[in-house]
Amino acid sequence: MSASNHASAFVPPATDADGRKNLVGLSREELEGEMLSIGLEKFRARQLWHWIYHRGSTDFAEMTTLAKPVREKLADAYIVARPTVVKDLKSADGTRKWLLRMPDGQEVESVHIPEEDRGTLCVSSQVGCTLTCRFCHTGTQRLVRNLDSAEIVAQVMLARDMLGEWPAPPDGRMLSNIVMMGMGEPLFNYDNVAKALKIVMDGDGISISKRRITLSTSGVVPMMERCGQELNVNLAVSLHAVTDELRDIIMPINRKYPLRELMDACRNYPGLSNARRITFEYVMLKGINDTPADARALVKLLEGVPAKINLIPFNEWPGAPYERSTAKAIQVFGDIVNNAGYASPVRTPRGEDIMAACGQLKSASLRLTAAERAAIANVIAEKDAALAS
Ligand code: SAH
Ligand code: SF4
Repeated sequence: MSASNHASAFVPPATDADGRKNLVGLSREELEGEMLSIGLEKFRARQLWHWIYHRGSTDFAEMTTLAKPVREKLADAYIVARPTVVKDLKSADGTRKWLLRMPDGQEVESVHIPEEDRGTLCVSSQVGCTLTCRFCHTGTQRLVRNLDSAEIVAQVMLARDMLGEWPAPPDGRMLSNIVMMGMGEPLFNYDNVAKALKIVMDGDGISISKRRITLSTSGVVPMMERCGQELNVNLAVSLHAVTDELRDIIMPINRKYPLRELMDACRNYPGLSNARRITFEYVMLKGINDTPADARALVKLLEGVPAKINLIPFNEWPGAPYERSTAKAIQVFGDIVNNAGYASPVRTPRGEDIMAACGQLKSASLRLTAAERAAIANVIAEKDAALAS
């Protein structure tokens, strides 16, 4: 089953100016097919996989387990490409944001959030997003296209380059976890996301296990079960409201897949247990969804779902229509949820000074004029109309 996404199908050329094909993002089977197509043996694919995804090599000349003529043949036909780093920003708290340019000139952002002995990479799945959640900066971006599997895997590879983790140590990696929580709705680009995550999880390569990968969705109900069955990664659901009335407004996807359907899909997510819960994300918007009554309704809504709740203080962006809840309101809300037996950590905003925090990603940073604000309102209206059609 697939869900319509309204995103442009255009994908940039997978070859360089000399017509050489990029090997990043191909499945193992596709890589074997490529080897056969240039007259090499199938097992070369395994050797290449090791160099590309374990060693991080981008230069065939380095691949010394291959004989020189083989390396030359590969270099004639292929490249191992990385996106161009347009900006490398470092926050006072150590968070890094990379603005990456893809071969067609489109740009996406990835964010690395370091902790003491581990680190999480927040990966984008689309350029922009077709949805228009009212609190999210990415939703105001007009241009949208799906990223292909190469562009998704390349974000992880680029981060490893930047962190100097090729080959990655078994313990204490600074890129230990991945969250599909950057720009875009991953379940509207399922095929590419799935292909990319399978490459990322492969134990002979990048080797980040499904337990350390979390995919966040705004609630694309028809794709949730398949995601659980095929990828079995941790699921996060952007909930943010406990009534259809409010969720319809702040997350227009709710008009298509309302709370009842969403909660049913959550209950049926494959592999759930008390040890393996769904994370419900809840952005705290002052005066909108942050009352004690909302907290109690949230507890009720989650009955019967193994859940943890992530309270996210709203992160501001230029032109945002909401404000962050007060610290007191967040604490009272969190206490109610906690007393009902749910873990409910408040997510400390990271990288706000470089616009890298949740919901702040958008390739161009803006200082808005009235005309630009009107233009944004137009974009939202157009995208909402497309969702309704
Ligand atoms: N499209 C997917 C993946 C993006 S995840 C999704 O919506 O789930 C990004 C997370 O940050 C989501 O939970 C999103 O709702 C949240 N978010 C968006 N804008 C935010 C903001 N301004 N402040 C805090 N969190 C925000
Ligand atoms: Fe898209 Fe997620 Fe932002 Fe909503 S919160 S606009 S689904 S990226």
